Amino acid sequence: MNLKQIVLDKIKANGGWVNTHAHLDRAYTLTESDYKHTTAYLKAKWELVDEMKARSTVDDIYDRMARATEYFLEQGTQALGTFIDVDDVMRDKSIKAAQRLRDNYGKDLEIKFVNQVLKGVIDPVAKQWYDVAVQFVDIIGGLPGKDAGREAEHLDILLGTGKEMGKMVHVHVDQFNLPTESETELLARKTIEHGMQGQVVGVHGISIAAHDKAYRDNLYALMRKAELMMISCPAAWIDHDRSELLTPSHNAITPIDEMIPAGLTVGIGVDNIADIYKPFSDGDLWIELRLLLEACHYYNIDELVKVATVNGRKILGLK
Ligand SMILES: [Zn+2]
Repeated sequence: MNLKQIVLDKIKANGGWVNTHAHLDRAYTLTESDYKHTTAYLKAKWELVDEMKARSTVDDIYDRMARATEYFLEQGTQALGTFIDVDDVMRDKSIKAAQRLRDNYGKDLEIKFVNQVLKGVIDPVAKQWYDVAVQFVDIIGGLPGKDAGREAEHLDILLGTGKEMGKMVHVHVDQFNLPTESETELLARKTIEHGMQGQVVGVHGISIAAHDKAYRDNLYALMRKAELMMISCPAAWIDHDRSELLTPSHNAITPIDEMIPAGLTVGIGVDNIADIYKPFSDGDLWIELRLLLEACHYYNIDELVKVATVNGRKILGLK
């Protein structure tokens, strides 16, 4: 019984992989000189990429995105969602590269672009670039952790834009594996408040499993009500730093073993590739799925195939 082959054949029969989350404009940017940054804290990395972003040309960015896209095509990928940085450092360079990527590869696979807001959306300069980005992208992107203390306001801006422009919203939430984080819950509440049910996706949700079971069960019920979907990027988060904090024992991963039986839609993404965030990540979708099923002890093959295919289409807003 070759389980890998069985899963891969079923993924192929469903049209191929759907990679719902990436940052292709930063793929393959790791250099010898910035290798030292790979052990920095995540929030520091949000700024440490500035130098690389400033020096990258549109051609550089396009080449990185194209190289990664070729690799996804090699793996039999039918659709791809990728964030692109649009801020006062990257300016509109990633938008130009993304347009070229769509022009050259749009016939080979479906591509959805999402704006990354590494400078937040509240600072006036950051907001100006956000306003530029939302015109171009297919899906509105968010990172409430960047506007810490004002997360609700951050989400109001994203969801307001999504509703006004008829675009879906993808938001990085609960990334730090801490029971003090509850961004997925806030996102679900805000989704209902803005009437955006079925249009919103949480990315990561690692901290969910750091909460007790009663909290998690209530959260899943709330997420069902909000029709909030979830993306898991296994390799990007399994590496959380050791902590002395006592929490229910769990792996640092989106708890899909609970979410799928709870009736939630979950997809998979590769997140960062060979940059200071994830130096060893290479965008191999099988490795990501394998890690997800192992870390969640989740062996339902048909559901895993859905995670890798049809769920991803729903998450990217594809028919
Ligand atoms: Zn991301």
